[in-house]
Amino acid sequence: MTRVDAYETMGREDLEQVQVERLQATLHRACQNVAFYRERFEALGIDIEKVRSLADLAELPFTTKDDLRASYPYGMFAVPLKDIVRIHSTSGTTGKPVVVGYTANDISVWATLVARVLRAAEVTEHDLVQIAFNYNLSSAGLGFHYGAERIGSSVVPSSGETVGRQVLVMRDYKTTALVGTPSYALHIASYLREQRIHPDELRLRVGLFGAESWSEATREEIERGLHIKAYDNYGLTELMGPGVSFECKERSGLHVNEDNFILEVIDRSTLRPLPPGEEGELVFTTISKQGFPLIRYRTGDVSAVMEGACPCGRTLSRMRRVSGRVDDMIIVDGINIFPSQIEEAILKVEGVAPHYRVVVDREGGLDVVEVQAEVSPDFPDLDEAAKVAALRSRLQASLDEALGFRARVAFVEPETIERSDGNKLRRVIDKRPK
Ligand code: ZN
Repeated sequence: MTRVDAYETMGREDLEQVQVERLQATLHRACQNVAFYRERFEALGIDIEKVRSLADLAELPFTTKDDLRASYPYGMFAVPLKDIVRIHSTSGTTGKPVVVGYTANDISVWATLVARVLRAAEVTEHDLVQIAFNYNLSSAGLGFHYGAERIGSSVVPSSGETVGRQVLVMRDYKTTALVGTPSYALHIASYLREQRIHPDELRLRVGLFGAESWSEATREEIERGLHIKAYDNYGLTELMGPGVSFECKERSGLHVNEDNFILEVIDRSTLRPLPPGEEGELVFTTISKQGFPLIRYRTGDVSAVMEGACPCGRTLSRMRRVSGRVDDMIIVDGINIFPSQIEEAILKVEGVAPHYRVVVDREGGLDVVEVQAEVSPDFPDLDEAAKVAALRSRLQASLDEALGFRARVAFVEPETIERSDGNKLRRVIDKRPK
């Protein structure tokens, strides 16, 4: 097994002891230094001294994204600004951004956790790690940068370059590991195809992709297009950034860094914790962060805790790959769909490119879903009616099977749907009146 630190293989009892101690320290710090927590706990008559086990956590209130927005910009910081050495923020595309502060210690812990993510994908000091995430207010680029430096890899911050320049760097510098969004990896793969660059002309061996939920079909597509092994990882800026959970070489679920985060999965209607195996909303409590501690933060991401031990030897629990965000979930006639299900259906059909957009609208009181997909660059021509009709019926059948209701299908010319530029891509356009 690749190098792991002691926490990754700790016995459950010892790990829970660490979690409870860190939880108690976090609760004290939060109540002492964050008015939001102090006032809320007081109002609810919660005595934090009574939180003595992980089960007691379920009696504490949740923290929501709205709570964080209401405290914009610094209301949730647990240390004075002079002790903050870094600030990141969420994009704010769906409302006010959330501003997150890190102490020097937070930055150091973060690097340790991202180093675990990279090591689990068998990245070492011999690797040349190209980071295509943007280095900006969002946490992904710098988070991976520090983690890769921590393990001694050679880091190439290629963020913000055009895809052509990314590939040039990749080839000439002999990049072995690529870090970015899965949609950007697909973008690079299609660029290689267009430029007739065989993936074996590159030294790429492994890719670590995150910041978007992506399907197994997309993983296969990326691996085929780039000749690499592709790993999923998970994190969000509110909690820290990348480094919350990660795939090991088994690639069967993501190990949660439980010595720093306590994971619960809750039922969205009863708000009670669910047992392993049952799907619900992920809720995290940070237990080592100094600058921006969060207690029972509702992430809006949907997944489940997995049962059983992982053959890799890590004892950290695993969560299933995130099937989607509650915000991205489309509810049509009472049926819940995630864009990843649509993606999976599209990738099953030869002749359609993995670039798509979903438009939801209301016509005559009924919800209408249109899936707009690009035809593959090698597809004959959108004017060839018979071929288009055959392709349409194949895609329609694949979507019908995946969704359980009828979505409309529309084809668009290659290269017309927005590509990832290193940031998260928004694939669903909901035009329905609120
Ligand atoms: Zn494992």
